[in-house]
Amino acid sequence: MKKPKISKNPWLTDKEVAALIFVAGKTRQNAFCHRSKHKIGASVLTIDGQIFGGCNVESVISGLGTCAERCAIDNAVANGHYSFRALCCVDSKLTPCCGACLQYLTLFSQVIDDEVYLVNADTNGNFEVDKLSQALPFGYRTESNLEEIQSFNGKGKKHKKRP
Ligand SMILES: [Zn+2]
Repeated sequence: MKKPKISKNPWLTDKEVAALIFVAGKTRQNAFCHRSKHKIGASVLTIDGQIFGGCNVESVISGLGTCAERCAIDNAVANGHYSFRALCCVDSKLTPCCGACLQYLTLFSQVIDDEVYLVNADTNGNFEVDKLSQALPFGYRTESNLEEIQSFNGKGKKHKKRP
């Protein structure tokens, strides 16, 4: 039997990674994937420790669907959370986030002005942890509206920057 690929990381605890994978794996079951039959689950961890799930939502109109990762972010936003520590994606194999989702997440990294970690997991217990800044080193970072964007950080609570 192949040994699971587990990426040790200094950023997220084993408990946080396990919880992110659990929620993404559970939400993956709800994927609206009538076109591709390809279920993907995602989850985001807020800076105050809450986790919100998402799944891919396909449309019959080309280009109108959304990825699981953006669905998870939107779920968190709909619940009043804008400051994220990590984003997780679960697929049958290790599948990295698409560029559009990485760019979408980059704006939220500007809300907290800090790194966001990426957990990439498969359904066999393998996972890797990466940094958004490594996955999308040259992502577009806005310079306009920054003060307004950062006013969403922790809904006004001060966020201590991590080393
Ligand atoms: Zn995507």
